[in-house]
Amino acid sequence: MKYKKCPRCQLNYIREDWNICSVCQDELDGKKSIFDDDEIWLCPYCNKHELDVDEVMCSYCQAKRNKHLEE
Ligand SMILES: [Zn+2]
Ligand SMILES: [Zn+2]
Repeated sequence: MKYKKCPRCQLNYIREDWNICSVCQDELDGKKSIFDDDEIWLCPYCNKHELDVDEVMCSYCQAKRNKHLEE
């Protein structure tokens, strides 16, 4: 199997019978790149508040949980 560089990004190697790499294909399809971090995540516990990227639950639920643990 021969490989060539993706003609669009000139970064990724693709099979010779492919037109562009999957990253470019995703981009053309309108999918967001994994490097975009402007997607909004809602807290899965209350489904109300936004989460930061590294948060598992919102600060409200976190506070509630901490309080609960203290009692
Ligand atoms: Zn590409
Ligand atoms: Zn929450």
